Amino acid sequence: MRFTANWHTHNFRCRHASGDFAEYARAAIGAGIGVLGISDHSPTPDNRDIGVRMFRDELAGYISGFHAAKELFPSLRMHLGLELEYFEDIMPGWADELRGEGIEYLAAAPHFFTLADGSMVNPWLPAPREDRPRFLAAYGEFVVKMIASGRYAFVAHPDLFGCFCSEWLPECDTLAREVAAAARDTGTPLEINAAGFYHRWIGLPDGGRRPPYPWEPFWRIVAESGATVIINSDAHVPEAIAKSVGDAFGLAGRCGIRPATFTDVAGGRLSSPLPND
Ligand SMILES: [Zn+2]
Ligand SMILES: [Zn+2]
Repeated sequence: MRFTANWHTHNFRCRHASGDFAEYARAAIGAGIGVLGISDHSPTPDNRDIGVRMFRDELAGYISGFHAAKELFPSLRMHLGLELEYFEDIMPGWADELRGEGIEYLAAAPHFFTLADGSMVNPWLPAPREDRPRFLAAYGEFVVKMIASGRYAFVAHPDLFGCFCSEWLPECDTLAREVAAAARDTGTPLEINAAGFYHRWIGLPDGGRRPPYPWEPFWRIVAESGATVIINSDAHVPEAIAKSVGDAFGLAGRCGIRPATFTDVAGGRLSSPLPND
């Protein structure tokens, strides 16, 4: 299969990526990509955690910059999205407001999540062993809630929990089944995120190593569920527009997954899939 649509792309506005729309568009054309969705980290009304996202008042420039670039590359189908967390205090109203301002789609961003006692978990840090079962349960609930909100076009790296939990526990199985079922039942694609392959690998109890995500046992369960799967690069620099997607296709193949390729977006959802031959 060829990589012809990438729906998860960043730009300089989030402050931890570089390059602007035109540079990503050029890189996409060079890589043989025909559909480019840009989904930089969303602003919030109160400008929270501003180190990783644009300010609220940068949104207008993001939208106008996108349309200016889109005119320059008529051969490329470009779409404008944002990658957005499910912040309980502003959702789903904020999602609807963004759509109203001209954002075509939202990528669900399962990053930080909240435990029952209200404390926040940073999923990139290894969790203490005794906390892993309850962290996994909370993470699963969080992702299912995002999906159930109906505000997202797809879920970015749903297996990000592979960062805080080094070994596959029974709770990982439960989580994977719940997320896959919610995705299938709502027709929300799950993303195999190629960028995980070049993030720092996780040391395993047996001395081995693996990428933090994509985590293969998760995708084996997704394959059984029949949920739709897409592959994205999550590029944070233009040169990474198709980086490691070959590894993502390899993983999908080993799991018996045929990734879908969507060519359009309608009503906030990815649409017009190519026939899966
Ligand atoms: Zn990022
Ligand atoms: Zn991203």
